[in-house]
Amino acid sequence: MIIDLISDTVTKPTAEMLEAMMNAKVGDDVFKMDPTVNKLQEKAAKLFGMEDALFFPSGTMANQTAIKLHTQPGDKLICDKYAHVYNYEGGGAAFNSGVTCKLIDGDRGMFTAAQLQEAVAGRSDIHVPFSRLVCIENTTNKGGGACWDFSELEKLQKISKENNLAFHLDGARLFNALVAKKETPKQYGKLFDTISICLSKGLGAPIGSILLGSKEDIAKALRIRKLLGGAMRQVGFLAAAGIYALDNHIERLDEDHQKAQIIGDVLKSCSYVTKVAPIETNIIIFYVDEKVGAANFIEKMKAKNILLSPMGEGRIRIVTHLDFTNKMLEKLLMELKNF
Ligand SMILES: *Cc1c(COP(=O)(O)O)cnc(C)c1O
Repeated sequence: MIIDLISDTVTKPTAEMLEAMMNAKVGDDVFKMDPTVNKLQEKAAKLFGMEDALFFPSGTMANQTAIKLHTQPGDKLICDKYAHVYNYEGGGAAFNSGVTCKLIDGDRGMFTAAQLQEAVAGRSDIHVPFSRLVCIENTTNKGGGACWDFSELEKLQKISKENNLAFHLDGARLFNALVAKKETPKQYGKLFDTISICLSKGLGAPIGSILLGSKEDIAKALRIRKLLGGAMRQVGFLAAAGIYALDNHIERLDEDHQKAQIIGDVLKSCSYVTKVAPIETNIIIFYVDEKVGAANFIEKMKAKNILLSPMGEGRIRIVTHLDFTNKMLEKLLMELKNF
């Protein structure tokens, strides 16, 4: 038994999801003739109360498309220093859109309205890049699955609007935040110009992300997705997994969160653990003492078929997910206690 806690992307489709995929009606989606893709896009748009939606092969492509449609080369986007769009998309903001990033020094991937106000203030003459876009991430990945306070997001939206900035949400793990904070997709649909959501993380689909926005923005996104090489053909087989995930795998995220809490409690009781970051959803970040060392700890756990990932600066990450069973949890807790 391999216990893979490296990410919530490691899940495989359940038997029921595979059956939904096998039974999908498909067509050529480049001609918008795949009924299952169309159904997924309509379903997602309706769920968020947004005008339109577009299916993407990856979250990275969905985010990069959003950045491209909101900016011109030479512009600037504003995000937290931990943001995925800045750290983990291969420099795509520069490569695809020719924009620079203004990084805010936030807390666990989140910043305040006052910090955004400060970032947009100042000169706006020919010498400085124009601010065009604010990107936020919920939950935060590098920030350890932290959830934003919705009232802070409302303040950020107001500042964005006052300053003519587009407001984009990287919602790769938005459903974790919705379940943890008992919020609704429609609340978010009202607040943001564009939202990317991921079907292949906590929701357990093998592939797929969706970009949501106005009819006008999604029409632009369709063209950008084509030029990035993301227009696909009989892709309803994959969209069917997404529909199944939206129907069946949202509420159960709470189980992943509960398991994360249990692991966190055990870690706090281990003498070699020096710190456990606050756990709000399905990501646990912790530190071990110098005698043990992060790299050594990960290696030793690997020898016991438990896979964890290093997050730099001595941080170790555990991510709970759909394929992490109660039996696996028991074995993990035992190994942590006995280490
Ligand atoms: C995983 C992730 C993405 C990108 O998703 P891919 O499908 O792997 O390209 C974007 N943003 C955040 C916060 C993520 O965690």
